[in-house]
Amino acid sequence: MKQPQRSRHIPARIRRRVFERDKAQCTFVDESGCRCREVDRLELHHLNPFGRAGQHHADNLTLRCQAHNAFAAEQDFGREQIFVKRNSMRHEAQRAQRETVLRWRSGESGESGET
Ligand SMILES: [Zn+2]
Repeated sequence: MKQPQRSRHIPARIRRRVFERDKAQCTFVDESGCRCREVDRLELHHLNPFGRAGQHHADNLTLRCQAHNAFAAEQDFGREQIFVKRNSMRHEAQRAQRETVLRWRSGESGESGET
């Protein structure tokens, strides 16, 4: 896993707190109230954009999958509508890709698993 360098680094204990609180699942909720079910590629998202307070706090952090974290970052910079659609497509693409990998793993790596 890549970790951000410099002061953007979030201490492990805070990361763990956020993961536990958010049940290790993306916290993005769409307009109809459905929470994103992504549990892979999770990143910590700052509710208040980084730099304002300059401190890492579990209260200011939430779990987002890669796609929704990128989406939130876009929002911080003021773009909105167009990106939502494009982003949800990317999200689905990632999910499909992950499922393919999982299927491949469970199928191919079981050589010595069975007796
Ligand atoms: Zn998500």
